[in-house]
Amino acid sequence: MTRPAPLIDPFARPIEYLRVSVTDRCDFRCTYCMAEHMTFLPKKELLTLEELDRMCTTFIGLGVEKLRITGGEPLVRKGIMTFFQGMSRHLESGALRELTLTTNGSQLGRFATDLAALGIKRINVSLDTLDDKKFADITRWGRLPQVLKGIDAAKAAGIRVKINVVALKGFNEDELFGIVDWCAHEDHDLTFIEVMPMGDMSEEARLDQYWPLEELRTRLAERFTLTDLAERTGGPARYVKLEETGQKIGFITPLTHNFCESCNRVRLTCTGELFMCLGQEDNADLRAPLRESAENDLLEAAIRNAISRKPKGHDFDYSRQKVEGQMSRHMSHTGG
Ligand code: SAM
Repeated sequence: MTRPAPLIDPFARPIEYLRVSVTDRCDFRCTYCMAEHMTFLPKKELLTLEELDRMCTTFIGLGVEKLRITGGEPLVRKGIMTFFQGMSRHLESGALRELTLTTNGSQLGRFATDLAALGIKRINVSLDTLDDKKFADITRWGRLPQVLKGIDAAKAAGIRVKINVVALKGFNEDELFGIVDWCAHEDHDLTFIEVMPMGDMSEEARLDQYWPLEELRTRLAERFTLTDLAERTGGPARYVKLEETGQKIGFITPLTHNFCESCNRVRLTCTGELFMCLGQEDNADLRAPLRESAENDLLEAAIRNAISRKPKGHDFDYSRQKVEGQMSRHMSHTGG
């Protein structure tokens, strides 16, 4: 059987990375991400686990080599381990190079061993503070000890952990060195993310919490010698090395378009919409062609059509009102 042509966008970028949100639900309510009382999507809107499998398998058949599972909180989706089990066959066949997930860590205590056994080697855990009280405040519903236990379980299972920290002025500024030191001590990778304008808060609070990563970096340079690394992952992170500890630290500045040239990724929402760019509204409904036929021809054609519309890049401005609508829709359904 001849392999179908791989997915290449109009700017000659091969699409090799799919980020899939498997649920819009979460067991936390991080203030900068969700409102406390969220209305979640009706179940029939969501792709079933079987549909998610078929969707991902189709993308893999078209050349996607890296799959990142996210949410909402991916590990609260009922039956999610069945889905991971299904995807692990693509790791075994070699079609998929990496299967990974972004999680808040709350369920890792239960699932880390199984995830490792299925071939998951690296995960991202979102954690903005190491202080119990602050953690409870920012996540509204989360408890830090449970997450730390989960992270330990992942490490014990042999999974490499990257800690993702949203930089929040007046919230975790004072923990910058504490978090860096903790990651060095625990041998976790570390990435800082610039906060995007979403969540349920006043405009004032929103602006108050914005801590530009340039500032964070300057602060870091007061204690460490920073060396910029040329390394790119096709993703939004830029990396520096702390010469004193050897740590590699990532910076993700989603509001600047410094990574579009090498963008190799698209994102699928839990309802089957494909977003071709983090910062653009355009999306394609893949659920309809998936449900319309048991064969994959319609779905493949819809995917190719969507990729042919992938824009060259995006250009946010923090002050632009439009961004808020864009981002909240993206993050709650596509998982950041
Ligand atoms: N529940 C999972 C988790 O906590 O990692 C996956 C979904 S969560 C939406 C994915 C990432 O988006 C997390 O690292 C989270 O901190 C980040 N995020 C959510 N809202 C954000 C915002 N307003 N600005 C920047 N990052 C945000």
